[in-house]
Amino acid sequence: MTDSKRPPSPRVIEKTEAEWKSSLSPEEYYILREKGTERAFTGEYWDHFEPGHYVCRGCGTPLFKSLEKFESHCGWPSFFSSAHGDSIEEIEDRTHGMVRTEVVCKKCGGHLGHVFNDGPAPTGIRYCINSPSIRFEPSENLKPKS
Ligand SMILES: [Zn+2]
Repeated sequence: MTDSKRPPSPRVIEKTEAEWKSSLSPEEYYILREKGTERAFTGEYWDHFEPGHYVCRGCGTPLFKSLEKFESHCGWPSFFSSAHGDSIEEIEDRTHGMVRTEVVCKKCGGHLGHVFNDGPAPTGIRYCINSPSIRFEPSENLKPKS
């Protein structure tokens, strides 16, 4: 967890809200820019386990690999680590009467989801991510060796 008192780092990608609105679908805009949450078990990726990369839907930055994804039964795409952890920023979130840790894309500031301390070994963490925040890009190189 990073120091929550630190202000968010400057974004590499800065767009006006109007620009975001025209480049994202209404659902993507609601989640990425207004910090919305998709309904559990309704998203594109909660039970998606093909080999590949998950990139930020706001700016295309690689965020997670399929090998880091696990079945969490929570209804959202869940990852136990991020090979691209440098691309993700953690921010303390005190909305809804809870203290949680929000995760955003460092480059564009897009809301991804939250990170919890109830993940599986070896990391013990669970990135709980909204499907509309990420886009899957298949990669044959990430196929598990059989
Ligand atoms: Zn982004």
